Amino acid sequence: MATAGGDGDPPQPFPAELDDNGFPALSSSPAATTTSSSGFAEDFYRSGTDCYICPLELDTEYVIEGVTVTLLEANHCPGAALIHFRLSDGKTYLHTGDFRASRSMQLHPLLQRGRINLLYLDTTYCNPKYKFPPQEDVIDFVVSTARRYLKKQPKTLIVVGAYSIGKENVYLAISQALEVPIYTDASRRRILHSFGWTDLSKRICPCNQSSPLHVLPLGSVNHENLKKYLGTLNQRFLAVLAFRPTGWTFSEATGKQLDLIKPRSNGSVTIYGVPYSEHSSFTELKDFVMFVRPLKVIPTVNVGNAASRDKMQAYFREWLKGS
Ligand SMILES: [Zn+2]
Repeated sequence: MATAGGDGDPPQPFPAELDDNGFPALSSSPAATTTSSSGFAEDFYRSGTDCYICPLELDTEYVIEGVTVTLLEANHCPGAALIHFRLSDGKTYLHTGDFRASRSMQLHPLLQRGRINLLYLDTTYCNPKYKFPPQEDVIDFVVSTARRYLKKQPKTLIVVGAYSIGKENVYLAISQALEVPIYTDASRRRILHSFGWTDLSKRICPCNQSSPLHVLPLGSVNHENLKKYLGTLNQRFLAVLAFRPTGWTFSEATGKQLDLIKPRSNGSVTIYGVPYSEHSSFTELKDFVMFVRPLKVIPTVNVGNAASRDKMQAYFREWLKGS
């Protein structure tokens, strides 16, 4: 599932609420996925009675037509992986797909082994203005905000917006902290169960009246929709507190001071945009590239115009100077 694009591109409406990875259309060619997302991928790639899915384990070397291929955890959505290729001549290529670089990634033996010849890099936020707070800080903020609103109005519905996959840790944390189940629709329930992630699976419930925590498509998290949605819940809730967890909501003015985030309120509906990113910040990209020391970097996102490509190459040259 290391594919470029999707949520890597600037904010845009999603045609079909698929994943933020921008899954390709049904294909007749075999597709490789990590085992943790193979159930999900099968739904999308199954064609008639034939199944072309070939689940691969993380951190396991596979030799495919003479090329040694290894998948590494991408710290993105479930099943996302970096793909490391070692060619028969010893050259190494790394395709990050969508990823959030972290220090612990640098401990991977394959990345410690030596230089990478060619790096395909997820450059979604390759701009110094993107300095995200750690995911844990955003989660703590979301949980404490939810608690605060529930104290004020116990009949508050908490909504978390998400693409078909991704952001699970945000609503899982709320569910754990408030000790409430997670309601979402049948199609997302099927996807979430397919991860085989016990902590999450046991918390999912099929009844929208049984839980004050609902997960809805990110695109539907706006005042108008949420007001209508509230109206369908038979007075069970009197207000909505919604979160849009995405790096695109990051503002330089707020920076890492989450308390400065201003929610947008309209009547009974309050919406918080929180900078929970499943892509690397600028600093994380810099650290990663300086560690991997590739001979060449090919950006995979925001490459639509020459100015943007040149700017990114200038950053890469700066980071790799003298290496
Ligand atoms: Zn993605």
